[in-house]
Formats: sequence, structure tokens, C-alpha cells
Amino acid sequence: MQLYMLKLVRITAMRMRKKANLPSKLCPCCLRPFVWRKKWEKVWNEVKYCSERCRSASKGRAC
Ligand SMILES: [Zn+2]
Repeated sequence: MQLYMLKLVRITAMRMRKKANLPSKLCPCCLRPFVWRKKWEKVWNEVKYCSERCRSASKGRAC
């Protein structure tokens, strides 16, 4: 039982580390950090805003 708990803790720690390793950016519109997403895999360097909403808001100078 104890060994099982130890394994569980280890797996949880690994998952948390993996999540923390994802790159993140700060949205200049809502000033909230956002984390890398699969859909941005190829355009991550060009991604500036957390969402389509913030992107269009910045174009309309609403930010
Ligand atoms: Zn935003």
C-alpha cells in the first residue's frame, strides 16, 4: 500500500513538472499569462494574444 502511494506521488509530480515546462506568454491586451497550446504548435513565435477576442480588440485599439 505504501509503495502504491509512493508511485502515485511520483506520477503526480512528473505530470506537474511537464505542465510547468510548457512555454507561456503574457497577453498585452488583458495582461494575463497564457500557456502554449497544441493549435499554436507552428505559429507560437507569432502568437501575441491569448485569444481571438484580445487580438481583434487590439486592432480596434480597445486595449
Ligand atoms: Zn488576452
